Amino acid sequence: MSAHQRRNEPVPIIGGSAAGFYTAYLLARQGVPVRVFEQAERLEPWVRTLIVTSRMRDLLGPLGEGAVVNEIRRFELFTDGRSATIPLKRPDLIVERARLIRELAARAEREGATVHLGRKFQQLQQNGSGLTLTFERTCDGAAEEAHARTAVGADGAISRVAQAAGWARQPTVPLVQAVVRLPKDMPADAVRVWFIPGHAVFLLAHPRFADAWRARPDW
Ligand SMILES: Cc1cc2nc3c(=O)[nH]c(=O)nc-3n(C[C@H](O)[C@H](O)[C@H](O)COP(=O)(O)OP(=O)(O)OC[C@H]3O[C@@H](n4cnc5c(N)ncnc54)[C@H](O)[C@@H]3O)c2cc1C
Repeated sequence: MSAHQRRNEPVPIIGGSAAGFYTAYLLARQGVPVRVFEQAERLEPWVRTLIVTSRMRDLLGPLGEGAVVNEIRRFELFTDGRSATIPLKRPDLIVERARLIRELAARAEREGATVHLGRKFQQLQQNGSGLTLTFERTCDGAAEEAHARTAVGADGAISRVAQAAGWARQPTVPLVQAVVRLPKDMPADAVRVWFIPGHAVFLLAHPRFADAWRARPDW
């Protein structure tokens, strides 16, 4: 296969979420043909707010701006009757994930990426110098194959692609997010974190975001 043919062979990206669509956008913008395979039958990402550093602005520029719902300028930490405030040099961003994913998907498609919904990645096989990827079509269970020299696994923390390629499963922690009514004295530009010795870390941020991390298996 010539270098030209190799460059024009579509790169399959498994996982239609933030990482997958951003990768698709970057590659398609460079003229690399890409196909995104997503197991969900509709592009309806769950609403979830994330806190990220301003590095997201450096990376995405105006592309991510529509998903920013708040800016955080300081962290307030509490434990055992003590507290501390950490001001941030650059604000952290509260990002609405579903909006970000939809924007990245639209940009990737505008650059020429094709999106195949309802395709669940099953397995990966080495085939000479290339790869054969098998997908299950979720509407009828039929098998589909894609052939490529390079594939991108963007299928989340418990990546089936990574496991099929021989990587060990990454450790994960349980995490809960809820929409809560904020206390009246809660400033809009602060995140409050409670460290409860021997228990969990609880974190609260404005405007509509509360996460709890389970720090002990029996919590
Ligand atoms: C409650 C909660 C709060 C969080 N808060 C923060 C935060 O404040 N800040 C932060 O930075 N991060 C946070 N995270 C983590 C953040 O959400 C993830 O790191 C991020 O969404 C990962 O994006 P991703 O594109 O890599 O994968 P994901 O968003 O997990 O997407 C993976 C995609 O792959 C698809 N997929 C999976 N398996 C297959 C398959 N076999 N075939 C085809 N498609 C497949 C899935 O349907 C999905 O669309 C939080 C996570 C949770 C759960």
